[in-house]
Amino acid sequence: MRLLSGRIYRAFPELDPFEDVVCRRYVSHARRSGRAWLGRGLVVLILPVSFLIWLGMVVLAVHILDNYVGQFDLPDAVNLVVGLTVMTGFVWFPLVCALITRDFTLHRAVRKRLEGAACAGCGYSLVGLEVFGDADRRVVQCPECGEKTTLNEGHITEADINPALLAES
Ligand SMILES: [Zn+2]
Repeated sequence: MRLLSGRIYRAFPELDPFEDVVCRRYVSHARRSGRAWLGRGLVVLILPVSFLIWLGMVVLAVHILDNYVGQFDLPDAVNLVVGLTVMTGFVWFPLVCALITRDFTLHRAVRKRLEGAACAGCGYSLVGLEVFGDADRRVVQCPECGEKTTLNEGHITEADINPALLAES
């Protein structure tokens, strides 16, 4: 999984044939479908929780190190770096946790949307396949099992197969 990057869609080979701008649109559609509010709620929730976890770790570390005060004679530079890391950790630790959570939930949303556009016969991903037929009946054929799926009738739309057709959001 690509963490902390703005290009999580590159973790999905199904989206490889599409340009960045199309993939970003796909991710944003995936995020808004399904239980997206749950993912956002989780990201918000993780901020105070990870703040408290960091606080707990600092308190624990201070408590443990208390027994060793005076036993180590660390250079000032090391003390400074450790001190800065601990203090700034109250900011960066929750942020990193929130970003990882966001990537994780986005990842899941994209995976679910991709799985929604799978062949009913064998589960092969239909994303990116050639769509044929006339304007009334758009069809895609599974290269694995030959099953034909009619688009825009059931839950699979032509934009699911060709994300370049997704409306700008
Ligand atoms: Zn199939």
